[in-house]
Amino acid sequence: MRIVLLGAPGSGKGTQAKLLVEKYKIPQMSTGDLLRAEVSAGTDLGKRAKAAMDAGQLVTDDVVLGMIQARLAKPDAKSGFILDGFPRNIPQAQSLDAMLARLGQPLQLALLVDVDTDVLLKRLTGRRTCGSCGAIYNIYFSAPKTANKCDKCGSALTHRSDDNEQTVANRLKVYQQQTAPLVNYYKAQGKLRTVRGVGAVSAIFKNVTDIIESQIRPLADVMGKIESAAARQAAKTKAAAVAKAAAAKAAAKVAKVPPSAKAKTKAVAPATKPKPLAKKVMPKKAVVKKAAPKAKPKKAPKPAAKAKKVK
Ligand SMILES: [Zn+2]
Repeated sequence: MRIVLLGAPGSGKGTQAKLLVEKYKIPQMSTGDLLRAEVSAGTDLGKRAKAAMDAGQLVTDDVVLGMIQARLAKPDAKSGFILDGFPRNIPQAQSLDAMLARLGQPLQLALLVDVDTDVLLKRLTGRRTCGSCGAIYNIYFSAPKTANKCDKCGSALTHRSDDNEQTVANRLKVYQQQTAPLVNYYKAQGKLRTVRGVGAVSAIFKNVTDIIESQIRPLADVMGKIESAAARQAAKTKAAAVAKAAAAKAAAKVAKVPPSAKAKTKAVAPATKPKPLAKKVMPKKAVVKKAAPKAKPKKAPKPAAKAKKVK
């Protein structure tokens, strides 16, 4: 299953992502983690990312997409992934769609964890952390027994500077301007589902998995068929192209080239210069050439129509 998680800062989508990873054994791809991994591995993408960060610039979308693509190629991502924190805006979503389409692995679900803004504000600004043991509190939802004192170790609680109201309000504003429009983007694709992100984590997760079971599982079966058909088609197209090129090459080597083959030679393998060749080789390659164009069944559109019905 291929999922994008959407939600404002403080929506708890990260928590849901971790639970999904455990349940479905598919990797969560967060761009921060990918960046760190690529940089520490010293890959080309990592070097480009590091150069940008060292210069105080944002890592460009194509670097991030490259990292996602590289991550998708790893074996554990074979049965799907959860994207959390990417895309953050419409252009990124479009680039992601284009890349996944090239890979034949389109998104199946965009899941929005929806939380009212006043709750988000309380969640983000009410957070208090214990500097000694790391315990986390919220003065609105899970206050310590004594104000500003850790229940577990008695140390003073701290309020992170990026949890202050001004910073939080800014983060939410950026989300509203850039990321919230993605909701409509995925809605238009018929891929958006919404879960209320309020209440017990386990109850929210139950709703999340219900959505996945009802939306993706039936779809996944149909999509699987479409994808394997597409993969077969791609393999055939590739084989046909290779055969065509080989045939054209061979044709170019014949002393007497029929006009039609000459035309093909120009189109497919313009670099090849005619060379004298043993004529015995020809019949075999000619057979390959004839068989190639037949390998083009156009079956993909039909299952696609089915997929829409399932939704
Ligand atoms: Zn403590």
